[in-house]
Order: sequence, then C-alpha cells, then structure tokens
Amino acid sequence: MSDKSHNLRINPERLWSTIMETAAFGRTEKGGLRRLTLGPEDRQVRDWFRAACEAAGCTVKVDELGTMYAIRPGRNMSLPPIGCGSHLDTQPTGGKFDGVLGTLAGLELIRVLNDAGIETEAPIAVINWTNEEGSRFAPAMMASGAYVGDFDPADILARRDATGKTVAEALDEIGYRGPEKSGSVPLGAFVELHIEQGPILEAEGKTIGVVEGAQGIIIWYDGRVVGFESHAGTTPMPLRRDALCALSEIVLAAERIAREQGRARWQRSGKLRLPIPLGTSSLGKSRSHSSFAIHNRKHWMLWIPKSEKQFQRLQSAAAWRLPSSKSGARSPSFLRRRSWKRSRPQRRRSAFHIDG
Ligand SMILES: [Zn+2]
Repeated sequence: MSDKSHNLRINPERLWSTIMETAAFGRTEKGGLRRLTLGPEDRQVRDWFRAACEAAGCTVKVDELGTMYAIRPGRNMSLPPIGCGSHLDTQPTGGKFDGVLGTLAGLELIRVLNDAGIETEAPIAVINWTNEEGSRFAPAMMASGAYVGDFDPADILARRDATGKTVAEALDEIGYRGPEKSGSVPLGAFVELHIEQGPILEAEGKTIGVVEGAQGIIIWYDGRVVGFESHAGTTPMPLRRDALCALSEIVLAAERIAREQGRARWQRSGKLRLPIPLGTSSLGKSRSHSSFAIHNRKHWMLWIPKSEKQFQRLQSAAAWRLPSSKSGARSPSFLRRRSWKRSRPQRRRSAFHIDG
C-alpha cells in the first residue's frame, strides 16, 4: 500500500449526513425508525444502498436470502473480500444507528479509499445482512446464520410473518431474492461496527470497545426453597422458616457475587413463583415455598470456572433460614445448577452480531 494509507480518516460529516439521509426511510414521529425487514421501507433503503455503493464503484451482489454484498475490487481478485457491514432493518420502534452505523460506515470506508486513490490487495465487501433484528420473521440473524451454515436457506425461505407471508414471498415482493447461494460469496474476514447497546462505554467516557463475548444465558439455577407456613401472629421470629426470606438471601447473595466480579455486565434476573400472592389476606402467614430461576447472562468463559464455588455461596446464604433435618427439607440441593452448552447460533452471535 502507498504512503497515502497513513493517517486515513473518515469524513464524519459525510457519514453523519448519510445516516440522516437514510433515516428518511421509515422515520417515526419521535425521530426513530420503523423499517421492518423486507417491507416497503426496507426496499427503499436497500435501493438507496445499492445506488450509493454502485456510485462508489462497487458491484452489488444479492443472495437468495436478500443479503447484499457491495464489492469494491482489490488488486488480487483471487483473494476473498474483507467483509464489513451490519444491517439496515430495524425493530418496530428502532433507532437511527443500530445496524445502520455498521453498514454505512462500510460505505464511508469505501468512499475514503476512493478519495485517497487507494487500491487494496484483497477486495472489500460491505454487507447488509437480511433480517438481523428478527422482529418480523423469526429467527433473528437468519441470513448471517444461513451464511455460516447454522440454518438451511430453504427452511428460512419458508418462515412466515404474523400475516402468513413467507420470507420468499416478501423477498419477491421487494425484488431482493438474489441469484447467489447463501454462503457463496467468500469472506477472508468480517468486522462489524455496532453501537453499544448498553451504557458502559458512555459511563466510562470511552468512545469505542471490542466485543469480548456474546450475550447468552449459559448457566442458570432452578430452585425451590421449601420452608413451612406458620401463623405470623403466633410464631416467634427465631422459629419461622419463611421461604420468601430464604429466597431473598439467595437473590442478595447473587447480587453480591456480581458486584465482587467488578463489572456491571453480570446480570441476575429472577422469575419467581410464589404460592401466596402478595396483597392477599394470606399475608398473615409466612411462606412455605418459593420457586425461582436465577439466570446468568455473562461472558461464558469468565463465569464457568468460578461457578461451583459461587453456587455453594448461594446455597449457604439461605440454608440457615430453612427447616432443619426434622422435616428433611434443609437439603443442600435446593438449588439445581443447569448449564447449556453453547449452541452454534450463539457462537455465531459473537462472530456477526450482538443481540439485535
Ligand atoms: Zn443491530
């Protein structure tokens, strides 16, 4: 590459105005976007994207699932293109940047290279994946999933939206059922720029970060805490074995562990099933049992090696509140650890896209 490759910068005003220009397709009253995949607004933005990429010297290929590959030639066309991109579809109440930034930043990259007169060794492919969001057709990330072999394209084409329309029909309707087989456009690498979907970078005053892992529930605990019901007016505190109090200990212990890990990404969400709904006349009783689940949505590699110890901590946090051996209920197994081997779609998430 020539010296011109040093200190290349994008044109931020151009990228910004490009994003704002495409935000006309599916604009909502509050300034967001509603651009459901393969709908009329998606067709508008696709047509715009194709024209803009062709004007920048790219050849646009479309595969059988509607994914668009805008390819800028390289010096060595026998090399597979370096891919970048994201998605132009949105959630029903989506924003202007989710997916759009990643796709249009790819276009900006092409424009910058053109302005600098740089020819890259390998070609570059700017990609608009079909239906990353999954809000009209399930599953989300269907086209990128098919690309890497997780889904069968024929099965994807037969998926239906809420009105009964298939993906194939929707593609035909907007003219984006392309001739390329899914997965047939080779890529040497793929990079996706995406807005952060959480508050961490902003809170830490950082402008960019690298995704270290995918969001996914890898391990969870199913639990059933068994205490015993007793009359709140006549049972002294030391003799009560209230299951809700024991459950509260577990919830707080899970939060403590999360905080000790020092990063806010560890989430605990509980689905609680209480036998006595709050606000009923039965509040005069202490609770006999509570069922719940604690999910761990966390970077799987950091979590698994520590889990057994943490599992014990959750148990011991509540055990003292539960009935002892007389009723046989103070079992060390009131929490059941369940794990979920990472499936291929989750691996794909880390490769292509993070949740939406
Ligand atoms: Zn996205």
